[in-house]
Amino acid sequence: MPRKCSVIGCRGNYRKRKNTDDEVNNHVSVFRFPKDELRRKEWLRKIPQEGLTPDNITDNMGVCEQHFDARFIIRDHTFNRPDGSTFKSPRMLPVLSDDAIPTLFPNTPSYLSTAPAPKRKHPDDRRAEATARDEQLFQTWHVEEDIISDFDSFRSNLSSKAVDLGSDWILVSKEHFCLFVNIDSCNCPTVIASFKVCEDMTVLIFDNKLQRNSSELTWLLGDANKLTRWSQLPNICSHWSNTCRVPVKPETVEDHVSVVTGRLKQLIHASKNDDQNDEKTTLEFRLNFLLQQFELLYSVQKRYSPECMVTAFTIFCSSRSTYCYLRESCLTLPHTSTLRNLTSCFSQCCQTLTDDDAHFVYLKHKCMALPECERLVVLLLDEIYVRPKVTYKGGNLQGFAENSTDSVQATTVQAYMIASVLSKHKDVAALQPIKNLEMSFFHDSVMKVLSLVETAGYRVLAVLSDNNRANRNMFEKMCDGILQPSVPHPLDSERRLLFFYSTPFI
Ligand SMILES: [Zn+2]
Repeated sequence: MPRKCSVIGCRGNYRKRKNTDDEVNNHVSVFRFPKDELRRKEWLRKIPQEGLTPDNITDNMGVCEQHFDARFIIRDHTFNRPDGSTFKSPRMLPVLSDDAIPTLFPNTPSYLSTAPAPKRKHPDDRRAEATARDEQLFQTWHVEEDIISDFDSFRSNLSSKAVDLGSDWILVSKEHFCLFVNIDSCNCPTVIASFKVCEDMTVLIFDNKLQRNSSELTWLLGDANKLTRWSQLPNICSHWSNTCRVPVKPETVEDHVSVVTGRLKQLIHASKNDDQNDEKTTLEFRLNFLLQQFELLYSVQKRYSPECMVTAFTIFCSSRSTYCYLRESCLTLPHTSTLRNLTSCFSQCCQTLTDDDAHFVYLKHKCMALPECERLVVLLLDEIYVRPKVTYKGGNLQGFAENSTDSVQATTVQAYMIASVLSKHKDVAALQPIKNLEMSFFHDSVMKVLSLVETAGYRVLAVLSDNNRANRNMFEKMCDGILQPSVPHPLDSERRLLFFYSTPFI
């Protein structure tokens, strides 16, 4: 026998009334009273029927589905798939949820029916909702608190806001700007990074030396590059100090050398501004020599300045052994074969220059690399005095004093330099150790150097020298006896060759 509904006036599962067609509708599920005593009492309190007590409830008594809110009635089976999704299939017989309570009594006065209490949520869900609500409130509050209205409020609230800038940041607050400075305090205190918030709230950023492009903070401050929120401040601080803090790499000897060369250049520049005198010239020469020595320490391809070449050659002529000792032990100097090449144009008897001559090849290549206008040069003649007390013996250095067939000591070095008329380009054309410079020998030498330089591609406009006797005699010979300011160019009759003689110029 199907269970009958115990609610008064309910026809659920009772037989069809004689005068109605209510047959379909009155077939309903009837649920047993709960076994749990507390819940059973709860049901009985709700059901408007006298005489029902926890003790007189039998297994055949129940409450039909019409008295339960739909949410209490479970009509489907729910299955979990292995992938975490669920699917449902209808139950043969509906069941009640654990918290179901009858609340609907259609055939009784309406006041006896009550809306079921809203379903209680799981404590975890309620906690999550409360947290979300708080978070929402906090966010709203935070967004309002976060906005910086203007510079005055920014400056006055800066200390009370307790914005965490990071330990290395120092604030300097001025009337029209606020400066944030990041200082490296580990070593010598230095400013690594800084930024300035101006009166219009724009932000200017600096590394340890220079102002940087503001676009580097566009991702944080937007295109206007303005500080609008307090929360942007610690972000600028951490980002900017990370950007500017270059990882400390150990300094190599080469790094130190480059510092030294930088300082030497400053020194040379400063010495140029001193009053002109001989001591200064000597000082500048020494500094330049030292500078080149430092530069040569780490240069792969050794390029020697004309001054260094002349100095090297002078030492070489004074004493070959001293030169070799200096070159091997402490100074970076040209190889002796390079120095010998500088004299090669004088030793060639037939006046033909070939590509076997290393110095000629060098001059030719150098000339080709120069623009046309810089190939116009003057030839500078200079006699460099070699201390006669230094013994320079020929021996295996035979013929080194070019104008002597004997192995005699050279007393001077004759330097032939070329200098571009229109640029600072300067080079050694030839060097010649001399003992007692004799006029016709000197004249021949000058002609050989002229030929060397012109064949290499340069155009010699003039010859310059100081006005000592040997130079004057040589010029006179070029002029066929009577000294003149210019003569037809010995190598090109279309051009003229000018002479200048004056005080020493190198
Ligand atoms: Zn009923």
